[in-house]
Amino acid sequence: MQRDAPDPAAGDLAERLRARGMRVTPQRELVLAAVRDLGHATPEQISESVVGVDVTTVYRTLELLEELGLVRHAHLGHGPPSYRPAEDQHIHVVCHACGAVTDAAPDAVDDLVRRLRASDGFEVDRAHFTVFGRCRACAAAEQGTSGTKPVARTMNH
Ligand SMILES: [Zn+2]
Ligand SMILES: [Zn+2]
Ligand SMILES: [Zn+2]
Repeated sequence: MQRDAPDPAAGDLAERLRARGMRVTPQRELVLAAVRDLGHATPEQISESVVGVDVTTVYRTLELLEELGLVRHAHLGHGPPSYRPAEDQHIHVVCHACGAVTDAAPDAVDDLVRRLRASDGFEVDRAHFTVFGRCRACAAAEQGTSGTKPVARTMNH
């Protein structure tokens, strides 16, 4: 596994494109800049912030930027994927009740990574990894009502 820390310098995109015999285009520059500005963004959100680039081009450009190692995507729900700069290393913890997205340290899944490597030789892709569950507030709300039938119970929250 090689780990070349992507350099967010401006020349990075041009260099990586050139290595593949590809050109720097305004669209490619703009889409990368938008990902770096927005932090987490779906292709739709990126196309809204980049004037004059349609969403199909944004999708294609994001795929290229990901191949070049400049952006990464993760799935934070059932909708379109969310893109972020590749140097932004973390995993996502998503509440499927309220939709809250929390960034967690990649070493939060060290145990799982080690176990799967040892048992199956499987290499977990941490950047792609999303943990779904319930956040503290949603879990507490559920605990408060579970086990008992909602008979004549008033909930106030
Ligand atoms: Zn994916
Ligand atoms: Zn929640
Ligand atoms: Zn994130």
